[in-house]
Amino acid sequence: MKIFKDPKALQEYIPKIKSDSKKIGFVPTMGAIHKGHLVLIEKSKRQNDITIVSIFVNPKQFNNHDDFLRYPQNFQDDIDKIGNLADILFIPSAESIYKKSNQTTISFSEHDKILEGKYRPGHFQGVALIVCKLLNICQSDHTYVGLKDYQQYLVLKQLVEDLNIQTKIIGVTTVREKSGLAHSSRNTLLSEVDKVNAPSIYEGLEYVRDLVLPKKIKVGRAIKSLTEILNKIPNLKTEYVEIRSKNLETVKYVSRGDIILVAVYLGKIRLIDNIFI
Ligand code: AMP
Repeated sequence: MKIFKDPKALQEYIPKIKSDSKKIGFVPTMGAIHKGHLVLIEKSKRQNDITIVSIFVNPKQFNNHDDFLRYPQNFQDDIDKIGNLADILFIPSAESIYKKSNQTTISFSEHDKILEGKYRPGHFQGVALIVCKLLNICQSDHTYVGLKDYQQYLVLKQLVEDLNIQTKIIGVTTVREKSGLAHSSRNTLLSEVDKVNAPSIYEGLEYVRDLVLPKKIKVGRAIKSLTEILNKIPNLKTEYVEIRSKNLETVKYVSRGDIILVAVYLGKIRLIDNIFI
C-alpha cells in the first residue's frame, strides 16, 4: 500500500493510473477504521483495479467543536486494519488541504434545512467541500459511501450531479454488529453502560418498521411510538425521529419504501441510524 500525505503528489500520480485505463475506486473516511469501512473498501477492491482510501478528520464538517476534539484518531491502527485491502492510502493534513485563502463554499437549498442539515448547521457544506476536493484529487470512477449516513449519500449524489463530477456514488448497506448496533467510529466513545444499551436503538427501529408494515399508519403515530421506545433507553435523548420517502420528502402515511431516520445522544455521544420500511 502506497501512502500519500501531500495532495499535490497524489494528484500528480493519478494520471499514471488513468493512462493504464485502470478503474479507480475511492472510499473517503475519517479514520478510526471499523468493519463498516472495511466492507466499503472490500467492495471497491472487487469492482476496481485500484482502491484509494482517504483518512481525514475534516474540521469543517463538525458544527460542535468538542465533538471534533474527541473524535477518535489512531493512524497506525487504521493502517494495520486496512492492510493490503487498499492500494493507496491518502492521509493529508488540514494545512495541506485547506489554504487560508479558501473562499469557496457549497450549500444545498433543501438538504441544509432538514434532518442532519437542520440539526448540524454547516455540516453538509463541510462534507461537500472536502468530498469535492478529494474527488478532484482522486479522479475516482466509483466512490463508496455508507447508507448509514443516508442523507449524506443523497447529498453526495446531488453534488456530483450538480457539479458534473465524473464519479458514480455507490451506497453500501449499513454494516452492523451482531447486536444490531450500526458500526460507527463514535461507538468507541460510549461508556460501558451506554454500549450495552446502544443496540436498543436498532431494536426500536425494527420494532416500529414491523409495526407499520401491514397497516396504513399515520407518520405522526409511528414517530410517537418510536420516540416513546427510544426515550425508555437509559441516558438517551432523541434529537430527531422522522419518517420520510426515499428522497427524504415528507409523507403523511407510512408506506413500503419509506425510511425511518433517527439521531440520538447517548450521554454526550451523537449516533444516527435508519431503517427502510
Ligand atoms: P466516517 O469515517 O464515519 O466518515 O465514514 C466513512 C464512510 O463509511 C461513510 O461513507 C460512512 O457512511 C461509511 N460508514 C460508516 N459506518 C458504516 C457502517 N456501519 N456501515 C456502512 N458504511 C458505514
